[in-house]
Amino acid sequence: MSDYREMWKELGLDLEAHDQLMAVIPQVYGDVYLSQKNRPEGMSYLDFVMSEIHGLRIKELNDLRASGRKVVGTFCLYIPEEIVLAAGAACVGICGGADWGSAEAEKILPRNLCPLIKSFMGFKLTKVCPYFESSDVIVGETTCDGKKKTYEVLGEYANVYVMHTPQTKDESSRRLWLDEVEKFKGKMEELTGKEIDLVALVKGIATVNAKRAALKRLNEARKVDPVPISGKDALLIQQVAFYDDPARFTEMVNKISGELEKRIADGIGVVKKGTPRILVSGCPMAIPNWKLHHLVESAGAVIVAEEACIGHRYFRDMVSESGTEAKEKLSAIADRYMKLDCACFTPNKERLDNILNLVKDYNVDGVIHYSLQFCDPFTVEYVSVEKAVKDAGIPVLKIETDYSMEDAGQLSTRIEAFLETIKESQGVTL
Ligand code: SF4
Ligand code: SF4
Repeated sequence: MSDYREMWKELGLDLEAHDQLMAVIPQVYGDVYLSQKNRPEGMSYLDFVMSEIHGLRIKELNDLRASGRKVVGTFCLYIPEEIVLAAGAACVGICGGADWGSAEAEKILPRNLCPLIKSFMGFKLTKVCPYFESSDVIVGETTCDGKKKTYEVLGEYANVYVMHTPQTKDESSRRLWLDEVEKFKGKMEELTGKEIDLVALVKGIATVNAKRAALKRLNEARKVDPVPISGKDALLIQQVAFYDDPARFTEMVNKISGELEKRIADGIGVVKKGTPRILVSGCPMAIPNWKLHHLVESAGAVIVAEEACIGHRYFRDMVSESGTEAKEKLSAIADRYMKLDCACFTPNKERLDNILNLVKDYNVDGVIHYSLQFCDPFTVEYVSVEKAVKDAGIPVLKIETDYSMEDAGQLSTRIEAFLETIKESQGVTL
């Protein structure tokens, strides 16, 4: 890592604060990840990516910028990655998964904002995130109120562009969204100086579809009992999807999936057959937020699916590759993003249907609903989720938490009691 100090300095990072952050991550990663037994060999790629989280990938992005290309930072699934790639730019998800810098954020933002918002604002204010500092533009969106208003504040510190996302799925909302998608194309053309034509759109769509298909293949393997990969490892792969080079990432995920398929054929699992299978549903878990997965899997269950933005919502739907004109491609992109079932939508019946489908497809024994503190959309939508899941005869546990480990003991006790309920009702031995 020491080789990168000059690069971090040039990016304007606060080197002292950054050193402190860099001292923490390997320790946590070692405890949460490297302590696992029987991991797929392909996870060594993810170990390497994590060991270079602020190194090699940042160098790649900066080399790309030196060659005249741009980097676009995003926070939400609504930002069409296909268009960013079509403009020849790189798209990176800015992490908001740690409470580093949140105290700084609280000096200017209300305390009762969700930890994800305070996290990204804190990373910016404390100048410890090289992805933030490598981004030529930060693209926000008007999903929840907290983010919407925070982008106005963030605009004082960074070059911010905001997409206006719809809240319902009727025809007039779809027209508004298509208009936003077209405006975003214009913004990307202005940023990069490159015209986004049909060929570029076809390529951008194919690249992102291939990435989503690879994640879909990986997640197929998690349907099997015994499951060949832990929920923690699967979560990490889905987190890295947001900032790795898309073609390389797709190739590596397909390689890991091949290994998992071989494990399935050989009857090899990371846990024994019959281990309680949990679906986690709710707020996104941005890197390095591994808290819930670690607690659940340490308690003797296995997480087999994430109904979340870092999870099925990201890879479930593809952009249609039909159409022979740039206009049709943009329309297909708009249609794909209109299918997202974020809790910011109202009504949002699709999300309930999707949760129940996952319960069935992944043979789930229990659902844990995860909301970040002060996240109104997901916390309130839990009322409908709880009813739908209970009506389907599946136990459900509501967890509301932040990024600190202060409540870890209390959460573990609740999770253990929940697993006990599942065990009693199904005669499963933990
Ligand atoms: S939960 Fe909603 S607002 Fe948050 S990243 Fe996902 S789509 Fe965007
Ligand atoms: S977790 Fe909830 S409150 Fe936080 S940014 Fe996402 S939708 Fe908004």
